[in-house]
Amino acid sequence: MIIGAHVPTAGGLKTALKVGEEIQAEALQIFPSAPLQWKIRGWSDEECAEFKKSWQKKYKQVVFHGIYLTNLAGASAENLEKTKTALIETLTLAPKIGVVGTVFHPGTYNGGIKKNAEQIKEVIKAVLENTPAHSMLIYENSAGSTIGGKLEDLAWLVNNSSDKSRVGVCLDTCHAFASGYDISTKNSYEEYIKQVDKIIGLERVFCWHLNDSKFGLGEKRDRHENIGEGKIGTDVFGYLMNDKRWENTAGYLEVPGFEDKGPDLKNIEILKGLRK
Ligand SMILES: [Zn+2]
Ligand SMILES: [Zn+2]
Repeated sequence: MIIGAHVPTAGGLKTALKVGEEIQAEALQIFPSAPLQWKIRGWSDEECAEFKKSWQKKYKQVVFHGIYLTNLAGASAENLEKTKTALIETLTLAPKIGVVGTVFHPGTYNGGIKKNAEQIKEVIKAVLENTPAHSMLIYENSAGSTIGGKLEDLAWLVNNSSDKSRVGVCLDTCHAFASGYDISTKNSYEEYIKQVDKIIGLERVFCWHLNDSKFGLGEKRDRHENIGEGKIGTDVFGYLMNDKRWENTAGYLEVPGFEDKGPDLKNIEILKGLRK
């Protein structure tokens, strides 16, 4: 597995490159904008072009993590419209910096997928139809209290996307564990991967998020912990690092860091140390 990390862009895209280098990440995940604001600010054309040219020299992949406000099952028309606009702006920005697409949280249950089926399909269709042809929408699994808690939710989203060649999923280890999928032992990890393959298809897994969990199995609480410091434990990260099926897949750390400054060198060294 390629070891990636979510890195800051405060001060511009060069910050992402600098932090990535300091912590020796092999791939980077960044926000396209402040995650709690609707407006996708992006960067100047010049800055985008410069970043696009330089990141490929040191990193295998860069991906966006969408803003936190988007919600495919939004209760109001206004919220849905804003979700659509934010996703369109994010996927339009992606190719400008050589990014393949955006991981994002599908949204609150608000009555569940079935109740919101038509509107979810409509938003996805509008987003895909109004963005560059290769920009991908990547649905992330959730910790269990929002859409994506079950693998079936992600499969539904993929299967109901108007262009299946442009969608994928992101599996977050903390979210999987919190939503009730035990991945802490070799057997349970293999069983989870088998389920992912059966329900979604391994070829749909675009990337992973590598986070230990502060809370226990099935507690449905989304609190990330440093690798090996949480309730999942270190073993699963060893399975992921050495699983041939993920050889060319990136896993991004979104951990608090040992100094509370986000993904750090120590977490990356732990993961590198697990490689056989
Ligand atoms: Zn995540
Ligand atoms: Zn999370």
